[in-house]
Amino acid sequence: MSSIINILPENLANKIAAGEVVQRPESVVKELLENSIDAGATSVSVTVKTAGKTFIQIIDDGKGMSEEDAVKAFYRHATSKISTYEDLENIRTLGFRGEALASIAVVAQVELKTRREVDQAGTSIRLDGGEIKEQTKIAHQRGTSITVKNLFYNTPARRNFLKSNNTEFKHIYDTVQRLALSKPEIALEFTSDEDTILALPSQKLEDRLKSLFGERQFATLIPVREETELLTVHGYIGKPDFARKSKVDQFIFLNNRFIISRSINHAVFSGYEHLVEKGNFPFFLLYIELDPHKVDVNVHPSKMEVKFADEQSAYRVVSAIVRKALGGNDLVPTVEFRQPTSDFSSLQHAAIPRFYPDAFPKQSSPVTRPDATVPTEDLPFDLSLKLDQIFSRPQSPSGESLPQEQQFQHVPRDEEAKEGKAIWQLHNKYILTQIRSGLMIIDQHVAHERILYEKALERMNNAVPSSQQLLFPQTIQLASGDFTLAKDLLPFLLTIGFETKVFGKNTIVLEGVPPEVKAGTETTILQDILDEFKNNQLRVKLDARDNVAKSFSCKAAIKAGEKLSDVEMRSLIDQLFGTSMPYVCPHGRPVLIKLSLQELDRRFFRT
Ligand code: ADP
Ligand code: MG
Repeated sequence: MSSIINILPENLANKIAAGEVVQRPESVVKELLENSIDAGATSVSVTVKTAGKTFIQIIDDGKGMSEEDAVKAFYRHATSKISTYEDLENIRTLGFRGEALASIAVVAQVELKTRREVDQAGTSIRLDGGEIKEQTKIAHQRGTSITVKNLFYNTPARRNFLKSNNTEFKHIYDTVQRLALSKPEIALEFTSDEDTILALPSQKLEDRLKSLFGERQFATLIPVREETELLTVHGYIGKPDFARKSKVDQFIFLNNRFIISRSINHAVFSGYEHLVEKGNFPFFLLYIELDPHKVDVNVHPSKMEVKFADEQSAYRVVSAIVRKALGGNDLVPTVEFRQPTSDFSSLQHAAIPRFYPDAFPKQSSPVTRPDATVPTEDLPFDLSLKLDQIFSRPQSPSGESLPQEQQFQHVPRDEEAKEGKAIWQLHNKYILTQIRSGLMIIDQHVAHERILYEKALERMNNAVPSSQQLLFPQTIQLASGDFTLAKDLLPFLLTIGFETKVFGKNTIVLEGVPPEVKAGTETTILQDILDEFKNNQLRVKLDARDNVAKSFSCKAAIKAGEKLSDVEMRSLIDQLFGTSMPYVCPHGRPVLIKLSLQELDRRFFRT
């Protein structure tokens, strides 16, 4: 015998291959539910026992199978969903690999019952370890019912790898929840060991979210909807203050398929800019629609990983959408001396794996929310026009009517709000102004920083520098390191308005500066920008452009200690609310905070 290579018997080969598709009971639930969705079901029930280890049953009212197809469905690579390579490039179904039923059947005892609308009799097939043991005609309602018993009964090693019932159940719950979110219009029942876990009617997305997460969490979400040439995105993102310590509530669906994408996740985070601290995770639920040709879903047997043809563009669009939605909401932190208990979400998750959607009836009563969610009427005086522009953008998704508390339309301001014209400067550092709900405190330096930062970026993007010619060009002598850096940065500096010429060794001549730069400070500011640039370079990895914009905004901004006139303060506030993100400076510090009357009342024991 000169050969040591064996061709594995088909049954063994199948068992090995099954390992890729069927890793745990959750995989079975996922594959079967996906099949029901692909079959056009309008109602599906999922029943598991002992966390799916002994029993999984999925019943749907989808299109069913003919007797011939019911048998074929268990062959490896048997699928009705694609037939040519071109189809693979244009997948609109959840399944397409034709592996699931074959894989499940070899490692369990399976019973399939199915009938199509056009057939008189239905078909029943019983398989054991992948072999058909019985095939009969039966009476059956339209649709398919698949029962999977004793998973891994013939692969003990794999069975031993299963985790505790709690853990396995949690996996199943997550998968059922994802599919419930991907198709709110499908009625879904989920039962575990005789307990009803979910009983969801056919719903609108909004209602499904309320059913799954509770009204209170829903109230912390901001709707988003955006269409670009490349893709459309809709869904919800969480307000930053409600971010949590774990990633559980983050969902991305690509053409209705739940996916895991580090890149899109990252894009969402970058959209939150500095609004969410490291280690905290905002809620998000985004449905991305994209031409199937522009994405490859056949990267992994689980079909959860995808490859975008143009990942960078997808990244940019998603990040911009999140940013815009956040910028359009009043995210002003409210000063509270006593922290409110806002972490109701922990409540909900403590309830898993025994979460009943009806178990939180109190959540449907009107919810008291922090002031941060009632934007327009709450902002000072003559900003209404600007604010209308800011706040109206993301809040009108699809024309769906949102519940009262979700609507952010402009509310006419009453007398009290008009009195908000009062404005003070505190210690030449903070601007105080009355708003309807109390007092708003703005850090003048950071506010100006935000304004200048966005101006700088805008000039850079549009390449229309705005510069004031200096009457007397100024010669600046630089250390040779700084001189090299300055030479590298000159193009960027020029785009924001610094007109310079290199003049011999280590010397540059400043001929024009951005209009925001105060007379007399021109050379110091340029030197400061170079220093700040170097500082930033050491601390954080910024691209040069962003770094220049940040350094400029930091150094050219009015400082703490500068006296401002009434007009200057008003103009500052006005410009601040014209930026895309008035709530944080480019470095992530808060620009403004609110102190509510309520809180003051509490402090003075007026309540
Ligand atoms: P895939 O979903 O990748 O096509 P599967 O092994 O999951 O592969 O299913 C094989 C085939 O069996 C499907 O293509 C479909 O034609 C049929 N099928 C499976 N489940 C159902 C169902 N619930 N209703 C109708 N047809 C089904
Ligand atoms: Mg399938």
